[in-house]
Amino acid sequence: MGSPAILGGEALRQAAYPSWPVWDDRERTLLSASLEAGGWWQGDGSVARDFANAFASYHSANFGLAFTNGTHTLEAALVACGVGEGDEVIVPGMTFVASASAVLAVNATPVLVDVDPDSLCIDPEAAAAAVTDRTRAIVAVHVAGAAADLDALTELCARHDLRLIEDCAHAHGTFWRGRGVGSWGDFGSFSMQRSKLMTAGEGGVLICNDEELRDRAWNYADCGRARDEWFYHHPTYGSNMRMTEFQGAVLTAQLERFPDQNATRNANAVALNEALSEIEGLRPQKRDERMDSQGNYCFVFHYDADAFAGMPLYVFERALGAEGVPMGVSYPSLNELAVFRTANFAPRLRTMAPKIDYSAVRLPVAEHASRSTVWLQHRILLAERDDVLDVARAAAKIQLHAHQIVEAHTGS
Ligand SMILES: *Cc1c(COP(=O)(O)O)cnc(C)c1O
Repeated sequence: MGSPAILGGEALRQAAYPSWPVWDDRERTLLSASLEAGGWWQGDGSVARDFANAFASYHSANFGLAFTNGTHTLEAALVACGVGEGDEVIVPGMTFVASASAVLAVNATPVLVDVDPDSLCIDPEAAAAAVTDRTRAIVAVHVAGAAADLDALTELCARHDLRLIEDCAHAHGTFWRGRGVGSWGDFGSFSMQRSKLMTAGEGGVLICNDEELRDRAWNYADCGRARDEWFYHHPTYGSNMRMTEFQGAVLTAQLERFPDQNATRNANAVALNEALSEIEGLRPQKRDERMDSQGNYCFVFHYDADAFAGMPLYVFERALGAEGVPMGVSYPSLNELAVFRTANFAPRLRTMAPKIDYSAVRLPVAEHASRSTVWLQHRILLAERDDVLDVARAAAKIQLHAHQIVEAHTGS
């Protein structure tokens, strides 16, 4: 192997990985059909609705609702569960801001808890320790498609009469003991934003098994209308969170293609897991044995700088990028976000009690993970097996030249 690309050597990979999003004539045909049909919104068409129900059924749930995005789905799920002012909702620290901001949107308090060091998903014991008289729900995030411990969480929620909302924005196609994620809790919330595992640019689907919960969530998303009532009857407060028919058309095509992509990503993720595990200092995110498949929104692995001559994570990521491996970055832990540290959301929650000083909250596992994990984009997993394994070869190459890279970047 030649010298590392970050020091001017030849990149291990010359060819690009598959691009994202993936689309073909199926999207084009269905989009045109929706355009010509003229309905354009869910009030005059059934494409988005049918897609959401098919998507729910794929994930073993009875009902699916087609939403604008995966932030609104969380908000509507919380409203349908009766969560509101004065309530507490337990949220893991290692996630996208929406998992917690949706809680703020319904005037409830996100109580941030730490995550499991192997899966990076909510630690059920930390969640149990955070339960108070005010706790109404847990938002469990299936981080990078790795299922949170649904056995422990459903048991915990049953014991304390809490609602479980699964944030499945990373986990299309994750199955836990034979059933799709999102079907275990009261609601499963999915995002179809561009970076996600299937997409219409923006979009969201809320799945559930209970008809009454479904109706309450949709009433909220459909301007406070009541099912089967007159159009201008608005018995409850609601917003407008409806997916368009165009999004539904694109997503119908994306769903057709999804099972094959999911199988490819899974097989490649397992192979990459093995290959990376052989490199000292690298430890892939744990795949729980109770998962039948993992919808890998990202491929995540832990990085120990000690095995790379002390190379800082950002240098390792740059070196990997230079070898031709595209990647994202880890989220910061939520307690480190300015919105929480400065509590500048407080006007929304003037009566919020108890007040939490988020700047004093410590989530050691999530905070450490945010500084020591590498997040690869899922499009890599759609490549041929040998191309996927280039990720491990690139990491090994960087390790071999670690001292040289560190010297060049620290000038020592
Ligand atoms: C993307 C994402 C969301 C929100 O989805 P949008 O469709 O972008 O609103 C929620 N939770 C997590 C964990 C996400 O990654």
